[in-house]
Amino acid sequence: MKVGAMYTALAIQGYLCNRERIMIPVSTIVKAQDDIRPYVLRSPLVIAQSLSSAERQVRMKLESLQPIAAFKIRGAVNAVMQLSTEQLQRGVVCASTGNHGRALAYAAQLFGCHATICMSSLVPDNKLMAIEALGAEVRIHGKSQDEAQQLVDRLVSDEGLSEIPPFDHADIIAGQGTIGLEIIEDWPEVDTILVPLSGGGLLSGIAQAVKSFKKDIRVLGISPQRGAAMAASLQAGKETEVEELATLADSLGGGIGTNNQFTFSMTQALADKVVLLTEPQIAAGMRHLFWQERLVSEGAAAVGAALLIDPDLELRYSSLIGRNVALIISGQNIDMQQFMQVISDGYD
Ligand SMILES: *Cc1c(COP(=O)(O)O)cnc(C)c1O
Repeated sequence: MKVGAMYTALAIQGYLCNRERIMIPVSTIVKAQDDIRPYVLRSPLVIAQSLSSAERQVRMKLESLQPIAAFKIRGAVNAVMQLSTEQLQRGVVCASTGNHGRALAYAAQLFGCHATICMSSLVPDNKLMAIEALGAEVRIHGKSQDEAQQLVDRLVSDEGLSEIPPFDHADIIAGQGTIGLEIIEDWPEVDTILVPLSGGGLLSGIAQAVKSFKKDIRVLGISPQRGAAMAASLQAGKETEVEELATLADSLGGGIGTNNQFTFSMTQALADKVVLLTEPQIAAGMRHLFWQERLVSEGAAAVGAALLIDPDLELRYSSLIGRNVALIISGQNIDMQQFMQVISDGYD
């Protein structure tokens, strides 16, 4: 077959257009690093003595030290910075009540832009107030996340607001990818990165950044067993919805969307493995980070440590986990009452 004909055949199958939108170029991540530098902490990569041994050094990237206490500020600041003056004047909107909602509120405030965060009436008051405290307008609509999203869609079409979604957006992925650039700069010898995985913006950005410079580095995604939408989607070969279940790693809940543009195909191409954890394993990771490393981490942030301290998991994935392992301590937004319970009572 001639190249031209092959191209047409592939284009008809949708292959080329998929290929075209599959990856965020690393140059976009490098540009994001420059753009967000004045607004985001270049977080430290510190040795985790309690997880290291003669055979392995483990270091932790402390994204929990960011303003808003989670890495999501990187993507949100980058995405807001790329908007035109006119878009900034109209404002931004999203339906996230968690770390992305906070990050977008924070980023919008930095640039004098109005942020509207839509949520359902079931969202607890403390989350609502945390977002209002960052200067955003909270709009309550319906009794589910889907209904809150309907309001987002309406504000986009009727009032021209720009929607900044939590993960499946080129500027969000590029912003999160700056974590990967910093890890490689600080520790060129790193051979494995353990990344909490939900929608996949964090993993896609980091993996694309580090693998562009060091092809054989391994990137493992880690999710809770409860509600692991990305893992189910990878297994099915297409976006798959799963029942949303409560988990200690609440920042890792939620689906990947039914029309995913970037993070599904990027995770498919770039994750060397996706590992699922039980609730007791996640709790053990949080306890370890607190008692051994003196760190407060939310469930999502403790999954890397949870994998390493579990002898069965550590053995099962030992061929993938090398000598120089970086963990992403992704955030510390957890209700302190709940945290105290996890670290004191134990969890079973
Ligand atoms: C959002 C989030 C993640 C997962 O990021 P994705 O891009 O959705 O995969 C992990 N940890 C914390 C603390 C988060 O807020």
